[in-house]
Amino acid sequence: MMTTTFADLGLSDTILKALEKTQLKMPSPIQVQAIPHIMAGKDLMGLAQTGTGKTAAFGLPLLHRILDLGHPPAPKTVRALILAPTRELVSQIADNLEVFTKGTSVKVAMVVGGASLFKQAERLKRGADILVATPGRLIDLLERGDVSLHATGYLVLDEADHMLDMGFIHSLRKIAKHIPLKRQTLLFSATMPKDIEELAATYLQNPIKVQVAPPGKPVERIVQGVHYLPNGDKANILKEYLNKHPGEQALVFGRTKHGSEKLMKLLVTWGFKAGSIHGNKSQSQRDRTLTEFRKAELDVLVATDVAARGIDIPGVRYVYNFDMPNVPENYVHRIGRTARAGKEGTSISFCAPAEMSELQAVEKLLKKAIPVLGGAPWSADMVAAAPKPGQNRGQRPSQGRGGQKAGSQPIQRAAPGKPGAKPAARPASAKPAGGSFAPRRAGAGGGKPQGQNRRPD
Ligand code: AMP
Repeated sequence: MMTTTFADLGLSDTILKALEKTQLKMPSPIQVQAIPHIMAGKDLMGLAQTGTGKTAAFGLPLLHRILDLGHPPAPKTVRALILAPTRELVSQIADNLEVFTKGTSVKVAMVVGGASLFKQAERLKRGADILVATPGRLIDLLERGDVSLHATGYLVLDEADHMLDMGFIHSLRKIAKHIPLKRQTLLFSATMPKDIEELAATYLQNPIKVQVAPPGKPVERIVQGVHYLPNGDKANILKEYLNKHPGEQALVFGRTKHGSEKLMKLLVTWGFKAGSIHGNKSQSQRDRTLTEFRKAELDVLVATDVAARGIDIPGVRYVYNFDMPNVPENYVHRIGRTARAGKEGTSISFCAPAEMSELQAVEKLLKKAIPVLGGAPWSADMVAAAPKPGQNRGQRPSQGRGGQKAGSQPIQRAAPGKPGAKPAARPASAKPAGGSFAPRRAGAGGGKPQGQNRRPD
């Protein structure tokens, strides 16, 4: 089969020249599939995770179209609007686009919460060829009259599933009302649940559908495993793993801002070069930590789902699910942070009794059991005995359970797509120390009881 090149996709010489200066040598599968349709002016739904090259898949044809116009945008107007759920993702998209637009007349602007509204309004006075924005801040600017979308001909909804998870549907409706119906709309999502189909039906016209990985299926190269252990043991086993792989970058997911911060501090006291990103950190702190992690000045990054969503850090070798995600799709997003750009990656999950249903939801989504590395699936009575949110205020750390060592069992390569063997029944030795369920730990690493109805962070 002939290999498709960027030139085959119909991109202009200016863009091909700009691409020569980047590490993008050959188009990725999502780019091969999506670019010709976008160039042809079609609406498109792309089912693709971050890391597949989807930013260039929509960015390059947008750039091609805008370069064709040959004149700058009118003041306060925007030609192409890209909406993304988080500040990190917005700045990552803008950074990516800057690489392609370097040396061209195309100007990219970005607006996100947590940064100066005044400066953003000032910037928008000149108009923007491409505006990358989080929905909330864009609405503020629209309502103040600092920007108008009446001349916007392109709308991109990136990480649409996550935007809905974060409750941005009302904001999207509000924003869409400002954009002419005669436009090209592109929607990208890592998963395609029913509400995304509905969103697409509302905002896209006869969209072409392209996909590079079936929904919910993690990258095949990622080796996965799970430890069944009480909350109180999680921090220690994480420490063992981190010590076993010095110098290899790890991303650790916590469920809450508070728990993630505590865990990061504990890791620092243990001598790890760790940082954290979550909703309680200012934008500049988050940016700084991400830069340090990218430069490998930090070995461990503790993050919440929302803060880490979509961020692209090629060096991550290990992903630890310190807390199981409460939305199963987030498992796929989390583990997709490793094994980037053809590299190997490992994901290790820690499942306490109260997280059994979350783990089962993940396995249902994956259509296979995650290989067990330690402990055994919690029985129904252990799960039932696990404290519900709000209970067990005076928690104590567990004493740990004998015998469970990080990586004490070989990690099996998961057979993607195929239903795996059912996890073994819980052996007597899998009982936590003390013979009963060790309560969730309020101290370092455990965070507050999970499952509380918290604001996304
Ligand atoms: P994205 O899925 O857009 O977040 O892209 C993830 C990463 O892949 C970014 O760092 C891009 O620079 C990189 N990338 C995108 N397209 C290609 C390509 N065709 N070849 C190599 N790397 C790429």
